[in-house]
Amino acid sequence: MTHQKRDPEPKGLVCPNCGCRHFYVVYTRPRAEKILRRKECRYCGRRVTTTEKVVGAE
Ligand SMILES: [Zn+2]
Repeated sequence: MTHQKRDPEPKGLVCPNCGCRHFYVVYTRPRAEKILRRKECRYCGRRVTTTEKVVGAE
């Protein structure tokens, strides 16, 4: 048995550039088993991409 590392969507995503936590979602792109999210910092405009795993698909 192996311990599965949990990597939930970081609620408090911190901007690597200015350190703020205010992002807005530029777009959301569903993939096969995960969701890609492009976010942009409100203050400095830094863009980050996050992935979100789909737990229960219909
Ligand atoms: Zn920023």
